[in-house]
Amino acid sequence: MSKTLELTEQLISQVSVTPADANCQNLLIQRLKPMGFECETLMRGPDDFRVTNLWALKTAKPKSDPALCAPVLVFAGHTDVVPTGPLKAWSSDPFTPSHREGKLYGRGSSDMKSSLAAMVVALEEFFDLNPAPSFSVAFLITSDEEGPANDGTVAVCELLQERGQRLDWCIVGEPTSIKITGDMIKNGRRGTLSGKLVVKGIQGHIAYPQLAKNPIHLISPALAELVDIEWDQGNEFFPPTTWQISNIHAGTGANNVIPGECIVDFNFRFCTESSVESLQQRLKSVLDHHALEYSLQWTVGGLPFITPPGEFVGVVQNAIEKVNGHKAQLSTTGGTSDGRFIAQVCKEVIELGPPNASIHKVDEHIELSELERLKHIYLEILQQLQENLTKVVRSS
Ligand SMILES: [Zn+2]
Repeated sequence: MSKTLELTEQLISQVSVTPADANCQNLLIQRLKPMGFECETLMRGPDDFRVTNLWALKTAKPKSDPALCAPVLVFAGHTDVVPTGPLKAWSSDPFTPSHREGKLYGRGSSDMKSSLAAMVVALEEFFDLNPAPSFSVAFLITSDEEGPANDGTVAVCELLQERGQRLDWCIVGEPTSIKITGDMIKNGRRGTLSGKLVVKGIQGHIAYPQLAKNPIHLISPALAELVDIEWDQGNEFFPPTTWQISNIHAGTGANNVIPGECIVDFNFRFCTESSVESLQQRLKSVLDHHALEYSLQWTVGGLPFITPPGEFVGVVQNAIEKVNGHKAQLSTTGGTSDGRFIAQVCKEVIELGPPNASIHKVDEHIELSELERLKHIYLEILQQLQENLTKVVRSS
């Protein structure tokens, strides 16, 4: 059995439904320590929601000047998985790795235990080939990515910032591909900003509207206006910012009562052309223009980030081309990922993992060939970084 497959299966066998890690990070530590990684387990969160985080670092000293700090590549990801849903719907037990028609089935097989295994095995092979590499390698792994993500990657990033830890390049192993591993990588993500709007009216009998104030009627023209706003036009990396209503609630349930308030939940997915402040201000000005009495509660889910095509994206693109014969499509679509936190402390962040067609679904799976391809691509990225750094030393 291939080493990548073996480790993926060990990880899938751990019942690590978010925020549980089960024994996943220990399995990783058992492989990282012999390679020379210093491993730190960082427990965070309240007693009823304990999150397990792993920060592991193997430091390289540049041969030219051992006093200098070598650049740091960090592999990031998560050991937690989403719940299985009804077990009856699965063709085989979600936590028993099963093979059918060249595919490996199990919860986490594509999101993202396969990526963790591919990272570890690629590193083992890389260090065999390069016992004294020119860059440091780190692992930032959490068990709180699929949940609220309050005590996971964000907490470790805060700690790393306090310590002044250098981070140059990051590969997040989220499943970003469509058909073949490496056909799409994410070099950024949109930001997310949610709001809860409470519009005040006056409750009353529906037959006496002159004695009441209907908040549904009051907010309707403002909502129509908000739906039509062009918040920005996007840019070369991002589609335009969007605004969507997710919930509207008003009414007592009775059909003869004008409700006293109307609650509207909404969300912006925004690009780097808009800011939290600019979006908040513009939305408020519409509400004020309609002379509404209201309160607003905001939640910033994540700021947008972008890694423009440059040296690191180039290395990743070349590695993918060498393995696949064609370059990856760069994309910033999809939901948020932990990349949003890492981008605050690391210069260049990209996301690269297996196809995502079955993630979070019943009968989640990965093609065995894609598992090996992923390991090859990660290894090739490591090799190309090493080659580039050796070239720099030679030419200077
Ligand atoms: Zn994931």
